[in-house]
Amino acid sequence: MKFAQEFKKALQREGGFTQRETALPPQSALLTYCFARLPQRWIDSAIPYGQLKKCLKKVTRELETIGLDRDTLAQLAASQTSAGDLGFHYDLDGEPFNSKHLRPRLTIFVHLKDGVVVDAKLSPATRDFLEKVAIGRAEQQAQPAITPDVDHESSASDDNEAPASETDCISVTPCPVRQVEIPLVFDGEFFDILQNDVFELDTLQGEEAERLKGEIASLGRTMTRTTRPANGKKARDDMARWREIFELESDHGARTAAQALKQLQWFQQEVLQRKHVQNLRLSASREAFTMFLNLNAMLLQNLKFQEINQLAVTKILKKFDKRTSLGVAKTFPVAVHSERLLAGSVARDLCAQVSSEVIATVPQLDDYLCPICFAVAYWPIRLQCEHVFCSRCLVKMQRKSERFCPLCRGDVIMRAGLDNFDKARAAFLREYFPKEVKEKVKANELERGKEIFGPDYTDGPCCVM
Ligand SMILES: [Zn+2]
Ligand SMILES: [Zn+2]
Repeated sequence: MKFAQEFKKALQREGGFTQRETALPPQSALLTYCFARLPQRWIDSAIPYGQLKKCLKKVTRELETIGLDRDTLAQLAASQTSAGDLGFHYDLDGEPFNSKHLRPRLTIFVHLKDGVVVDAKLSPATRDFLEKVAIGRAEQQAQPAITPDVDHESSASDDNEAPASETDCISVTPCPVRQVEIPLVFDGEFFDILQNDVFELDTLQGEEAERLKGEIASLGRTMTRTTRPANGKKARDDMARWREIFELESDHGARTAAQALKQLQWFQQEVLQRKHVQNLRLSASREAFTMFLNLNAMLLQNLKFQEINQLAVTKILKKFDKRTSLGVAKTFPVAVHSERLLAGSVARDLCAQVSSEVIATVPQLDDYLCPICFAVAYWPIRLQCEHVFCSRCLVKMQRKSERFCPLCRGDVIMRAGLDNFDKARAAFLREYFPKEVKEKVKANELERGKEIFGPDYTDGPCCVM
C-alpha cells in the first residue's frame, strides 16, 4: 500500500478509549479495550501529506524546465566531493538573520569562461539557463566582468558592498567559479506548508501535554488521598494491592507505540487475571484505577499520533530527495527547530511524570531497604552523607571502627550518633510498611539477644526446642 493511503487510514483508525467505555466500571473497561477515532482537531492538524506530494510535483517540474532534473543535480552533488569541482548548495535556512522562517535557497557553482559555462557534465539546456542567470544577474548589478585569479582576500574585502552569494569568485581552477542563485518558487511553497504544519503539531502537542500533565497530577492527588494507610484497614489493603499492580507496570521508559500498546494490553490482562481490581476495597481506589488505565490509553494515543506524523515527515522528505537530489532529509529536521514533534520527547516526559507523581504515591519497599542487610532500614539512621542504614548495621560498623560510608566512602560512620536517627522516616516506615517494620524489630531484638546471651538465645519467653 502506498504511504499516502496508509497514513490516511492510520489517522482514521487510531485512537484510545471512547467516552462510552470510560464510563463503564473498571472490569468492563478492561474487557472492552478498543480504539476509537482520533479527535477531529488532531486529524485536521496532521501532516498534509497529499498536498505536499502535489507541491513536490510542481517543484520537480520547475527544476526540470531549467534543466536541473534529479539526475543532473545528483551528478553535481557527486562532483562536489572531488577536489576542484564544485556542485551546489541547497540551504534551507536561506535567511539566517530573519526569524525562524525557512527560506530555501539553491546555489549552483559553475565554471565560467568569457561568460560561457564550461562544465561539460551539464546538459546544453542547463548551461544555457545558468549562463542567462549568471550573466543577467551580473548586468543587473553592474558588476565588472568576472576575472580569473581573484583571491579570497580581495573578495572578502568586498563583503561590505555586496552580498557574498552574488559576487564571490573563487579561484580554485583556471576558470573562475561563479555562484549562481537559482530563483525557485515552489520549493518555498513546499517548505512553507511543511514547516507551518510542524509548528501547528508542536502547538497541539504542547496543549495535549499540558492537559495530560493536569490529569496525571490530579490522579496523583487522588491516589495520595485514598491510599493513605492512616485512612484505615481498607486503605492499607488497597495500598498493598496497588503495590502489586504497579510492580507489573514497572517499565515506564521510552518505547515505541507498538511496544507500549503490547505492554498496556499485557498489563490489563494480568491485572484482570490476578483479580487485582476486584480486590480493591474502596470504590475510590477502583475509580483511580480506571483513571490510571485511561491515562495510559491517552498517553498511547499521543505517542501513536506523534509517531505517524514523524513518519509522514520522514517519508515526504525522502520523496523530495528522490525526486530532486537536493538532500533535505538530513537538513530539514535541523533547520525547522521543532521543539516537540521531531524531538519526540513529549510522550517520554509524560511517562516519567506518571512514574514520579502516580506510581511514587505507592512507596515500594525496594526504595527503603538498608543497603547492608537488605531488610527495611529500621530504625533508620541518616548519616551526614544522606545515606540511610538500619541502626543494627550502623552499630556493627562502629564496633569494627569502620570510618567510611560503604556507599560513598564519606568519613561519617564514627561521627553518627543519636542525632542521626531519622524520626520522620521512622514514622513513614511504620505507616507504609508496618509488617516489614515489625519483622525487622523482631529480628533486631533476636540478634541483640544472641550477642548478649549466646547463639542459643530465642526470642520466645519460654521456648522448648
Ligand atoms: Zn541493615
Ligand atoms: Zn554515604
